[in-house]
Amino acid sequence: MTADVKKETLGFQTEAKQLLHLMIHSLYSNKEIFLRELISNASDAIDKLRFASLEDESLLEGQADYEIRVEVDPENNTITLSDNGIGMNREDVIENLGTIAKSGTASFLESLTGDARKDSQLIGQFGVGFYSGFIVAERVEVHTRKAGEAPDTGVLWESHGEAEFSIEAKPRESRGTSITLYLKDDCKEFADDWRVRSVIKKYSDHISVPVMMAKPPAPPAEGEEDKAAEESEVEFEAVNEATAIWTRPRTDVSDDEYKAFYKHVSHDFEDPLTWSHNKVEGKLEYTSLLYLPARAPFDLWNREMSRGLKLYVQRTFIMDEAEQFLPMYLRFVKGVVDSNDLSLNVSREILQQDPAVESMRNALTKRVLDMLGKMAKDKDSDNYANFWKQFGTVLKEGPAEDMANQEKIAKLLRFSTTHTDSEVQDQSLEDYVSRMQEKQDKIYYVVAENFNTARKSPHLEVFRKKGIEVLLLSDRVDDWLMNHLREFDGKQFQDVARGALDLSSDSDDDKAAQETLAKESEALIERISAVLEDKVSEVRATARLTDSVACLVVGENDMGAQMRRIMEAAGQAVPETKPILEINPSHPLAQLLDGEADEDRFANLAHVIFDQAMLSEGGHLDDPAEYVSRLNSLLVELSKA
Ligand code: ADP
Repeated sequence: MTADVKKETLGFQTEAKQLLHLMIHSLYSNKEIFLRELISNASDAIDKLRFASLEDESLLEGQADYEIRVEVDPENNTITLSDNGIGMNREDVIENLGTIAKSGTASFLESLTGDARKDSQLIGQFGVGFYSGFIVAERVEVHTRKAGEAPDTGVLWESHGEAEFSIEAKPRESRGTSITLYLKDDCKEFADDWRVRSVIKKYSDHISVPVMMAKPPAPPAEGEEDKAAEESEVEFEAVNEATAIWTRPRTDVSDDEYKAFYKHVSHDFEDPLTWSHNKVEGKLEYTSLLYLPARAPFDLWNREMSRGLKLYVQRTFIMDEAEQFLPMYLRFVKGVVDSNDLSLNVSREILQQDPAVESMRNALTKRVLDMLGKMAKDKDSDNYANFWKQFGTVLKEGPAEDMANQEKIAKLLRFSTTHTDSEVQDQSLEDYVSRMQEKQDKIYYVVAENFNTARKSPHLEVFRKKGIEVLLLSDRVDDWLMNHLREFDGKQFQDVARGALDLSSDSDDDKAAQETLAKESEALIERISAVLEDKVSEVRATARLTDSVACLVVGENDMGAQMRRIMEAAGQAVPETKPILEINPSHPLAQLLDGEADEDRFANLAHVIFDQAMLSEGGHLDDPAEYVSRLNSLLVELSKA
């Protein structure tokens, strides 16, 4: 063990270096956050010990009173935070404080904007809280010893926050960790008792262990100054509330306290959009405190992103990221659930099978959907619009994942539609239904790769002409969503680019006119079919077009074009299907085609029309060069004529 005793100097991992540099030089506008981060770490360390001691009581070394101490020394310009939590041994220290082993660091550095205020807000999200000490300190010392291990396994870690840190053995009687910050000249305020108290009150009231600070000494009696100075034993008092916030009655907790607690559980620096705090009694007993963040985390789309609630059992911390309590499509929800029914040694595996967890999950899911519903109804606030902007695409996964709540989720969906013709998704299905025409019995939608393609889709022409509203869908999940969303308010959804157009609102006259049209164009349709045999499954005349000459339609049971492109991009095998080509026989180009006697020219024009129909729905041509050459030969002939 002698090698360990020697002082050893090690280099930080490259990314840690960058991060430290950043911390020290640019994250200066919100200095006081370091206190919150370090107290939060201390509280986590205590939670960890509390949990580990359920299995092995000897870890407590006969001392089960948990506390965090904050001591300031204005003479030497230091502040020291101590906890009697789990502590660290040499390996832990190197692992936790020497490298930033977390994959989040690289993404953190990438996502930096250079705007120091915003950047400082991001720090917490990436689990780099400890390093925030270097915002205010020119040197940081960590003296720590792991619970249950011998005093001589104590370790002293030290760094100036530049390229290196040193580590050496230093015995420590008590378990836990003390972090001493040697404050920079312009950060002396954090050696001031009053200043530090106020920051702790602001950020750490909800921490369930007491954060203790020295009581200001009573003024000594006359003539006894020296004696008082020698004898006075420092007394400590708690600065924070130190009760778990969710155990308190709702009416007792201020909004600021709720917000501070949110920041603790979520590592988010912004205030939450809203929260819901509930105590459930009856067959199952539990308390939940659920928050909706205001902003999507950088890794929302990473399937491995941290998600889930902090789980407590009878107020004892059990685990972070207990994902069994909410479905995947609500993965943005943060918060705490504290159960009286689960056993203290519950594991993730047990959670997956426990019927109590299942019913809690159902109830919590409803709770979140209700919270969203309430927010959506509040017309005076932008909260729901903001929520939708951040998390709408995640919520769209809901109808597929959670059939039981489909109707509830459907009410929460927001869309772009031809009614507003705006890219802003702010129309609900209820809005749509309230505007439906008298005989209309379907909810129409179009799916395209982007908003503009959707809005300009030739399929919409007849709908615009007749004033029938169509939902404009262009998010990646939309085809997936519409595959699962079959009905709303008793009305079926209909993709306007799928199957034969059947407008229930059409009058008998309209229908008769369409039949005549089909009859008259039979010969033309047949000629086109012969030319495009390899490319289409069918050619037919349509009444859905007014301005365009042709459009492509997907067979009733075939995969939608957007879904097909997504699957192909993901390297998935997609079953080969051919689209249906619909022709607008009254369009001048169709009439030109009809009168074309030259078979070559006819073929060229038919191919061009097909390719254009493909392009206007955002599709890609199999052979773009051929399209160009066909079109050019037609243009050359035109110029000769
Ligand atoms: P995070 O807390 O998000 O994991 P930090 O950079 O703040 O990231 O801390 C890194 C790790 O260092 C923690 O995960 C923990 O294992 C360890 N650590 C930090 N502070 C303490 C402490 N007071 N007691 C024990 N371990 C600690």
